[in-house]
Amino acid sequence: MAKPGYRVFDTHVGAIERMSPHFVRVTFRGDDLREVGWDGPDQRIKVILPLESTGFADVPSGGDWFTAWRALPDERRNPIRTYTIRDARPELGELDVDFVAHGDGGPASRWIGTAAIGARMLLVAPDATSDEPSGGWEWNPGAARTVLIAGDETAVPAVSAILEQLPADARGVAFLEVPEARDALDVRAPEGVDVRWLPRDSSSDKTDEYGARLVEAVRAWADEWAAADASGAGATSSAGLASEPPAASNELPAIDDEEILWEVPEPRDDAAFYAWLAGEASAITTLRRHLVKELGVDRRRVAFMGYWKLGRAEG
Ligand SMILES: Cc1cc2nc3c(=O)[nH]c(=O)nc-3n(C[C@H](O)[C@H](O)[C@H](O)COP(=O)(O)OP(=O)(O)OC[C@H]3O[C@@H](n4cnc5c(N)ncnc54)[C@H](O)[C@@H]3O)c2cc1C
Repeated sequence: MAKPGYRVFDTHVGAIERMSPHFVRVTFRGDDLREVGWDGPDQRIKVILPLESTGFADVPSGGDWFTAWRALPDERRNPIRTYTIRDARPELGELDVDFVAHGDGGPASRWIGTAAIGARMLLVAPDATSDEPSGGWEWNPGAARTVLIAGDETAVPAVSAILEQLPADARGVAFLEVPEARDALDVRAPEGVDVRWLPRDSSSDKTDEYGARLVEAVRAWADEWAAADASGAGATSSAGLASEPPAASNELPAIDDEEILWEVPEPRDDAAFYAWLAGEASAITTLRRHLVKELGVDRRRVAFMGYWKLGRAEG
């Protein structure tokens, strides 16, 4: 049987760095991580959190560990949450994850409040020794050199890695909504990509609304682009924001309240424009409607990803 593209890695907390009021970088270490893969800049992994009573005693092992994990009774099933590899140094057996500390509301955020050096942690991540594809990453601009990137704080780790890995001639804009101004981190981006931080606390009338600043900024930017496109005056014409006739595939399937939006296009070699949007699910759904339905942006050029949903625990 082929070795699965993903496996469980046994690690411990090697370092903890509070980077800002809401971002905590944890460096996981362990010899096991010398085999970890990192296949795309927005590579997602799973963090298996310890149970207070039994730690990791009941986490199943082996190729079908996930099925076995699902079959466990609630009280013995360790919580699993999705995170992004912010950086990986397999040659050193190290992997960084940037956690958003959002209070005591969820097991992952609670864990980050009490995490200690040396604490054990299990991660489900790509296995570099496997021939199977790991999947688990979506950034796929094809030939596009003009990009629109938008995310909230949960997407900042992915966006930071994406910006670092963009080619030097990339152009476009990255909008990042964060809880407060001090959460704007240092990021490296090509000169032609404008990185705009959107702290929620500086918004006068939308202080608590997750995604409101992001929606506002992306809409304003896209409206301006669409207007320039229509007049033929803007850079958008060459970037092709909406330069093709509306495709049949631009019809939007409905997203009901139970579902979390996850819609990613097939890679295209001809695309001049590519957009990647991730964050709180309702905000991303609003942006999808505006971009695709109202502005006619070809949805085969945009990845829409609900990373979490307000009021709903993952899992
Ligand atoms: C592909 C992918 C990559 C991700 N990468 C990262 C990453 O690198 N770093 C990161 O911090 N997160 C990341 N996330 C988001 C993370 O998985 C969620 O925030 C997750 O819900 C956190 O788990 P929890 O145990 O803290 O809260 P849960 O138990 O899942 O939720 C409990 C409550 O907290 C709320 N909640 C969840 N997240 C937040 C938040 N950020 N702010 C405010 N309220 C929240 C929920 O709506 C719910 O009401 C990623 C998600 C996906 C799908």
